Amino acid sequence: MSETDKPLIGYATAADSLPSSGSALTYLLAGNGIFVSAVRPGIKVLMPVCLSDQRIKGLPHLTPDLTVTPRIPKELLLEVWRSCCNACESNLEMLFHFHNRNGEWNLQIPEQTQNPTSCQLTESGSQASHHHAIVEIHSHASMPAFFSSVDNADETGFRIYGVLGRVNTTKPEIQMRVGLFQHCWNVPAKTVFDIESDFFMTDISIMSGCQFYSTDLPPTNVLETLWS
Ligand SMILES: [Zn+2]
Repeated sequence: MSETDKPLIGYATAADSLPSSGSALTYLLAGNGIFVSAVRPGIKVLMPVCLSDQRIKGLPHLTPDLTVTPRIPKELLLEVWRSCCNACESNLEMLFHFHNRNGEWNLQIPEQTQNPTSCQLTESGSQASHHHAIVEIHSHASMPAFFSSVDNADETGFRIYGVLGRVNTTKPEIQMRVGLFQHCWNVPAKTVFDIESDFFMTDISIMSGCQFYSTDLPPTNVLETLWS
């Protein structure tokens, strides 16, 4: 799916059976708010978009969920971290892709230009690694792990995105999120990788409460000007 293509959007309620129409994403109205559902090989997400503090009568409640099947082996995350450490010695960021082929995760290092504050893909088109990447991770070298405004501008497709930070310390940081055409949800690293709860990296998503948010422009506030 190209990030520049407009996604096919479906709409349903939580009482309907989900359409198998091949929509890229489907908005669901539920008893407890609005969710968005989407599937790619290896990942399935039901992301909260707007949790309502008023009950929407007559509709079942939904529970947000991210399923990664199977979770990515820990060894592959450690391989990413080691490569980030090597790049960090030259003060460079680095970008990684995970592809899901027949239920197995493969790590790929795409062609890229690296510098201290960014790394940019140099390949494009339907054969490029980026096109099929289900999970994309980049390093912030010795800087903290967080999604920057540059990351928000770059990460506009449907993928699981991640950042590794402070990679050359004894407490490296990791932050993962699901990005669904600019709907975002920070998720624990252990939902994506097969790691234990006491894994040595600091999980920034968990520490900051696994928020959901949008990197798109917000709609205008209709109440602000309504009676003025
Ligand atoms: Zn970044």
